Amino acid sequence: MSFLSLIEAKRDGQALTPEQITRFVREFAAGGIPDYQMSAMLMAVFFRGMTADETRSLTLAMRDSGEVLKWPSDPRPVVDKHSTGGIGDKVSLPLAPLLACLGFRVPMISGRGLGITGGTLDKLESIPGLTTQLGPARLVEQTQRIGVAMGGQTATMIPADRLLYALRDVTATVPSIPLITGSILSKKLAEGLDALVMDVKFGAAAFMKTREEARDLARSIVSLANDCGVRTRALLTDMDTPLGRSAGNWLEVKEAIACLEGRGPQDLRELVVECAAHLLVLTQRERELEPARAAAATRLASGGPRAKWNELIEAQGADLRAFERKLALDHAAPVRVELKSGSAGFVTRCEARVVGEMVRDLGGGRLTKESTIQPDVGVDQLAKPGDRIEPGSILARVHARTRDDAACALQRLRAAIELADEPPSATPLVVEVL
Ligand code: URA
Repeated sequence: MSFLSLIEAKRDGQALTPEQITRFVREFAAGGIPDYQMSAMLMAVFFRGMTADETRSLTLAMRDSGEVLKWPSDPRPVVDKHSTGGIGDKVSLPLAPLLACLGFRVPMISGRGLGITGGTLDKLESIPGLTTQLGPARLVEQTQRIGVAMGGQTATMIPADRLLYALRDVTATVPSIPLITGSILSKKLAEGLDALVMDVKFGAAAFMKTREEARDLARSIVSLANDCGVRTRALLTDMDTPLGRSAGNWLEVKEAIACLEGRGPQDLRELVVECAAHLLVLTQRERELEPARAAAATRLASGGPRAKWNELIEAQGADLRAFERKLALDHAAPVRVELKSGSAGFVTRCEARVVGEMVRDLGGGRLTKESTIQPDVGVDQLAKPGDRIEPGSILARVHARTRDDAACALQRLRAAIELADEPPSATPLVVEVL
């Protein structure tokens, strides 16, 4: 059957067989299917969906488009965390070295920015000299040696996801439960994990807009991952408001380091500790969540994960001195402007969707496959719901390449942050665990 017939079948709502899915994924990874036809297939899947069996076939075919990691026997469980994508979501950066310090092996394979959401790989690549292109042998060697490695899909590991991910990003086909499940789990299954914690985001800036949709996505991921032998839990978390107080690749690295140094925003620290605690319970290193949280928080505060971070980035080619020099700077982008409040009150809204679009349009994300990322642009010092504001208080600071870009960003931010006389009611960060 030709690929054209498969597009027609999916367009008309038919289920594809495991053999058909395996074949087209293999052919696409080998360069045998043009982007325009695969884009049509992605859009057909977006509208028609896939059954659980099709999603499983897609995921396994994507995993098997490259090598799967093999681990030497070792008492340290192999674990990871993955997020479905948000604004200001830099949890993986402090979490990976923390997990290594808690006695796990963490071969984290991440993605680039997708849509308006940031990507761990783009954040890491804002570090001078650092490479995320680690082949399977290097991923295993480095993880065995220092407990952690952070890389991306390559020509030899999950190449199908590397190609599909880039195509989905620019064809408006990201928010699809089977495509997200396949993309995330192909990477996680290729890592040969014992346990996985998923952060499934919902809200205006997430791919799943409602809690119900996020629950459906979480169920799809958790049930397939557990079926494939990876003990998995999903946390449902809010993405109407950015996580932390900065968004933009380098600015998020800075905030991640603050978290590793016992500073930085409370919500970021809470989510890092929460993810680590669930992995401690999933791997039976702790029986209950409360002592697991305490163990993770104590280790985070010990300074060990900060030292492990340096070991990690140096192992991946970063110039440590250049990194520390860049870290000491207040800013790295040529232009900064502050948004100041004209009145007093409490912040009731800081719209993550607007912040994400603004960072992308400053050059922090992609509009086409060929877009080049500007690592240093973005926003920091973001005011968040519950903050008490006085006239003249800073609501946000924009980092841009030009004055025009900064002025345009400021305009958009002004509409994204809302004040009122009364503080909003507090909302929990993790609203549900599946
Ligand atoms: N993260 C991924 O790796 N893939 C997706 O499709 C969404 C988030």
